[in-house]
Amino acid sequence: MRQRFPAHHYINGILTGDRLVLSQAITLVESRLVDDQALAQQVLEAILPKTGNSIRIGITGVPGVGKSTFIEAFGSYLTKLGHWLAVLTVDPTSQRSGGSLLGDKTRMESLSMNPSAYIRPSPAGDSLGGVAHRTRETILLCEAAGFDTILVETVGVGQSETVVHGMVDFFLLLMLAGAGDELQGMKRGIMELADALVITKADGDNRAAANRARVDYQNALHLFPPTGTGWFPPVLTCSALPDHSASPSGITNVWQMIEQHQQLTTQNGVRNRRRQEQQLTWFRSLLRQRLEGQFYNQPGIKQQLDRLENQVLAGTLLPAPAVDIVLKQSLDSH
Ligand code: GDP
Repeated sequence: MRQRFPAHHYINGILTGDRLVLSQAITLVESRLVDDQALAQQVLEAILPKTGNSIRIGITGVPGVGKSTFIEAFGSYLTKLGHWLAVLTVDPTSQRSGGSLLGDKTRMESLSMNPSAYIRPSPAGDSLGGVAHRTRETILLCEAAGFDTILVETVGVGQSETVVHGMVDFFLLLMLAGAGDELQGMKRGIMELADALVITKADGDNRAAANRARVDYQNALHLFPPTGTGWFPPVLTCSALPDHSASPSGITNVWQMIEQHQQLTTQNGVRNRRRQEQQLTWFRSLLRQRLEGQFYNQPGIKQQLDRLENQVLAGTLLPAPAVDIVLKQSLDSH
């Protein structure tokens, strides 16, 4: 069984940058036991003054686009510049299939051995809302432990992009050249969230196609409404392969671009505003989760819902009065 330590063990360990204690604290934050949760909140409250000082970067893209390879190259570049890097993953698929699309230990092999980097896979067995909440708290723990750059990676399927966008300062969308259909449908919505697009695998025979894609996507972005932040999302190309040295790899450009964004949004107040809005969204979504949890945890609720659903199915009761009945009873019982 996992040992639970007193709060000062976690607080002191985190503030002195102890990786082992950081991992223990993240496990605490991820736990659903009531006692763990109370302790986790005590720890978070104590470290709060030491948080917020990192740059938080979200990275998304469809499976196979090259996320982990990019993070390896980008991460090693950043640590060489002297940054302390934490890589977190948000992968809601890990709970459904049992096997995670991200998060397995073999990914980002060299970064996982880099002393300036810390990699933590997605918490398993949780809803997307739960994963998001725990990842936000984990970001705070990592910041207090001294990490100045936080990468939050998400697998490019479903809703997790929106959730990650809601917890970062900069949202990077990785795209493949020659996958033109992605301009349609779901990807369009995600493109609208992106602070920049990066066309991956811009090396060898793929370089010309990557450059064409860059122009196409840049034209497509021009058609989007202005972001109102003074920032115009650029499209870059990049190769994450180690043998890219024949020409600039693009990794440097990506970082310089993020720094420019950081500078601009710090000066014009957009970064602060974005973080404030994210805090509010976090609060509201947590409240919703808690209310929902309380509601569905009431004794007898499942049987009652089954009964009402059967009546709704049979057409003997309309949905609105069914909701009235169930809410009235649950309020009366409080
Ligand atoms: P993920 O699923 O988005 O994390 O994608 P991976 O990082 O696992 O990459 C998928 C495949 O693309 C792997 O076979 C990588 O070797 C390859 N790949 C990734 N980045 C590059 C790149 O910059 N250039 C080339 N040529 N291949 C790449």
